[in-house]
Amino acid sequence: MTRLTIRSLPGQGESLSGYLMRTSNDNGINYSKLLQMFTDKRKVMGSYGYIIDFLPHHVFDLELLAEFIGVDSNRINSMTMSPIFNNIYDEEIRFLKSFRVSIYQEMEKFKRRFCVKCLENDGLYKVLWQIKEVKVCTVHREPLITQCQNCGIEQPYTTNDLSQYICFKCKNTLLVKMRDDQSTIMLANQNKNQSDWEFLLCLNNPLIKNNEKLSGISNEQLLAAKLLYVAQGCPMKYKRSESMSLTNSQIKGIYALYNNRHKTKLVTLQDIFNVINSRSMSVKQFAETDVPQNYLDSINNNNIVISKGTCIAPWCLNNGSNTKMRYISKNENYLKKKYKYIYVCTSCFVKYGFNVQTNEWVEIGEKISLIPKVLPLVKPGFKINTLVKNLNTSFTNAYEIVGYLVIRGIVSLDIINFSYPIKLEKTEVVLNCFYELIEPACDRQSMCRKAVSLYNWNTLEFFIYYAYEEVQEFLIFRNTEVKTKKRKLSESKIDEIVKNNVGFLSKKQIAAALECDERTLNYNGFEKKIENIVIQNKYYKNKEVGLEIVNRIEKYFAEKTNENQISIEKVYKYLGFSKKYLKKNYPDIYYQITCEVEKIKGIIKLRKINNWCILAQEACEKIINNSEKLINRNIALKMGVSISVIDSHPEIRKAIRAMSIFGLVDNAASQDT
Ligand SMILES: [Zn+2]
Ligand SMILES: [Zn+2]
Ligand SMILES: [Zn+2]
Repeated sequence: MTRLTIRSLPGQGESLSGYLMRTSNDNGINYSKLLQMFTDKRKVMGSYGYIIDFLPHHVFDLELLAEFIGVDSNRINSMTMSPIFNNIYDEEIRFLKSFRVSIYQEMEKFKRRFCVKCLENDGLYKVLWQIKEVKVCTVHREPLITQCQNCGIEQPYTTNDLSQYICFKCKNTLLVKMRDDQSTIMLANQNKNQSDWEFLLCLNNPLIKNNEKLSGISNEQLLAAKLLYVAQGCPMKYKRSESMSLTNSQIKGIYALYNNRHKTKLVTLQDIFNVINSRSMSVKQFAETDVPQNYLDSINNNNIVISKGTCIAPWCLNNGSNTKMRYISKNENYLKKKYKYIYVCTSCFVKYGFNVQTNEWVEIGEKISLIPKVLPLVKPGFKINTLVKNLNTSFTNAYEIVGYLVIRGIVSLDIINFSYPIKLEKTEVVLNCFYELIEPACDRQSMCRKAVSLYNWNTLEFFIYYAYEEVQEFLIFRNTEVKTKKRKLSESKIDEIVKNNVGFLSKKQIAAALECDERTLNYNGFEKKIENIVIQNKYYKNKEVGLEIVNRIEKYFAEKTNENQISIEKVYKYLGFSKKYLKKNYPDIYYQITCEVEKIKGIIKLRKINNWCILAQEACEKIINNSEKLINRNIALKMGVSISVIDSHPEIRKAIRAMSIFGLVDNAASQDT
């Protein structure tokens, strides 16, 4: 690996991308050429430019880069957004999920934001500048800008031109101070926001301190607990009620996350800011807050940390591991009383429950203890009676075990003495049968009885099918869904939801509010009704957004009437919508923009012509004073325009004719008469 000739040190707060752009300039290499030396440049150029600062380890081998530019990899990391996430998450996958949310909300990834004075002084594009909330330079108190002050275009995140501090479009220098009329900016809260972000952007400022770490609990879980604690006003014990900054469902999500239930809840930057802002706290104060053990214990719904158990079925491929363990949310009541949690190993379909009395994971269904005793008894011609008698178990259990052994391939189908030749059905066929069998009751005996009468299966056949993995999966994870499909819904409930809802409602959201799926809505005959609600709701929502767009364009146009140029493309660029989108969703606004642009174009044109008229008259005056020949050619020459300008504008000719009262008009403008 070659090393760069000029290897300057990164500046205070400089972003990695900014540093690389500066380095390319120092070494007289094109920026994209420089990147090519150590990465696949397609991944980091153009609209992907931000990746360098946001996910450096995804596009660079940091050690290699460190050697190349002569800056150690820790320092490189500290020039990026990585510290923010390292201070919060301990799992890359969680971090990436949150990242997708956070970058849109908090960080500017398309435009380069900069302080002109900083660029003048030390040429630094700082990483903090890309945080949307930070609006002014920390050093100069100057507003951060994104646009070229010459042509007004916004500067992309990385370009070769940025490395030379010139606009990528018009190539004028970017080192021009913003016009004062644009620089009025709200500075309230700026100090707090800035120090919060500076804290987060610093390596080794974890929001959870090392001494708080408990075994088996992730950073994110502890962070969730801390958020709850702070949001609830630092009480002694966890409260189930809503708090100022967290909704009920957020609290439930955090609670579940802390208790290892499901990890659908992500702790996002937004959550953190919501909570600390509601308590007027800084991120630093938040990081330094200790959550008392009593509080943590009270969130934990069993007062001890329960992690998933491991599968202990000797025949299971995932024996000794918990990777295939899946939480079962719905269970029969008698199981619920006995076990705090129930999991199933989705590799072998043995169920495990967490026994509250003994605080231990135990197998549910006795397969592991019974199967070793069953195996010696399963010989050609064996009878179910033998098993029942010897094992002191029920017929149902005995059948289930035999079915299970057959499907697992532990016992061959040939050994079993059927009274008729049997050919096992395909999975889809069997699954379809089970869709029927679960009604009206889905316990083993009821389903078996129904199968015997409906499909003419015998009991063993039923239990073989019952052991199919797909059937088990369906029965365990999907049967509640199918049940709700046929649930009766009341129409007034839907009306209530619509009435109480403020934002946009989709069919999915309505279904979720009713705790059913979309099919259930159709089944109840609400398909049309909901369709109308969604359309109407969309209209209202659109109306709100539409009003906002109208406000913005009115402001935009008010500013543009004094300029010399307007283009419809720029209007859409400013709005951030495509022409097509607006035409489709807001046809009236689309029409308004088109008209307004035409109108302004007209005004600009008129102004231009008026200007020409004045110039023409001034030219005439000069010509008359110099006693030169007053012809269009001379006038145009004095005006500094081509003669075709006069030829194609009757207004100018009229103005020239007005000068003819001096009686000196020769052939000027005579074409008109
Ligand atoms: Zn500055
Ligand atoms: Zn420019
Ligand atoms: Zn297993």
